[in-house]
Amino acid sequence: DESVQREALLAAIENVTARIADEKEYLTDLDSAIGDADHGANLNRGFQAVLKKVEEMDGADPQEIVKTVGMTLISEVGGAAGPLYGGSCMTASQELDGGITTETSIAFAEAFLEKLQDRGDARVGDKTMVDAITPAVHTYKKSIEQDDLPPLQALAKAVDAAERGVEFTVPLRASKGRASYLGWRSVGHQDPGATSTLMILEEILATAEE
Ligand code: ADP
Ligand code: MG
Ligand code: MG
Repeated sequence: DESVQREALLAAIENVTARIADEKEYLTDLDSAIGDADHGANLNRGFQAVLKKVEEMDGADPQEIVKTVGMTLISEVGGAAGPLYGGSCMTASQELDGGITTETSIAFAEAFLEKLQDRGDARVGDKTMVDAITPAVHTYKKSIEQDDLPPLQALAKAVDAAERGVEFTVPLRASKGRASYLGWRSVGHQDPGATSTLMILEEILATAEE
């Protein structure tokens, strides 16, 4: 029911916000190696604003909440990650029309990835957040539709897939975003955006497991 979903969503947003605050320095360190040392600070500013906004949204349905998350990330995060995370979240929120169900969660995940690729034009192997999100989305969908796993187990598999995706970014040469300016010097560093994606997914999973 809707109020249960709203509570779960707010709990997930609180957990993600706390995690990003905890890992702010780490994310910024990763970005200092191959970017401009602001990814942790950018996301932290964004999620603090998100938390404040959604806490004021009494009676909003899950779709409105997720749309607000996206809009707030667009306006507060800035950089490459703000419009990518925020724009995808905002567009994909349209899939949550009937609330959050197994089906709408798959549709959300697919719409999120599609929008991300449209906007950022990055593919797997370009050393971006796409390297974590793509295997996570495909694994989530496949685990439910082909392997008949319950959504919670599918989400756990998706998190594992994202983790492998993050590790996969280390040896890559970046071909999108600021890290691409470094050419071969980007090799050997973990992508900050893929790393924050993993953290966000881990917190969504932890919330769902509670
Ligand atoms: P900026 O690079 O503008 O300072 P951030 O530091 O907040 O922005 O975010 C950097 C992250 O954004 C990168 O680690 C990468 O994962 C992601 N990113 C950059 N460009 C793209 C793109 N075109 N498509 C997908 N993700 C991208
Ligand atoms: Mg940066
Ligand atoms: Mg920047």
